[in-house]
Amino acid sequence: MAELANCPNCGSVFVKTNLRDVCETCYKEEEIAFETVYTFIRKKENRTATIFETSEGTGVDEELIIKFIKTGRLRLAQFPNLGYPCQKCRTIIREGNLCDECVNELRSELSTFEKEQKRIQEIRNREKRTYFVDK
Ligand SMILES: [Zn+2]
Ligand SMILES: [Zn+2]
Repeated sequence: MAELANCPNCGSVFVKTNLRDVCETCYKEEEIAFETVYTFIRKKENRTATIFETSEGTGVDEELIIKFIKTGRLRLAQFPNLGYPCQKCRTIIREGNLCDECVNELRSELSTFEKEQKRIQEIRNREKRTYFVDK
């Protein structure tokens, strides 16, 4: 459903749709930026460019290039070094929101947390038992 919203880029009011999350002017600018990025990265010598090199080479914001990647307009399969930063450590990744290292870290943090919870639970259980025995 269409609704009125403020453009996240320039703040002007526009009709937001599923297909368009910025205003008409910014949308057109994004289209031009996309063409610029796409033309750049399609060149043989730029195929292996990273997102930083692409941003430098085109003058297009990294954030916007990330948007093109995340919305699937730039297909990573065609560009081996293109990716976007991990949400935690900014390492360049090509899928998900976190790099392998951060995923592993998160997992081990989680299991430490679970172990800790279990330990607390066991202590509580023990205290309960002691309490009943004492009575
Ligand atoms: Zn706008
Ligand atoms: Zn990371």
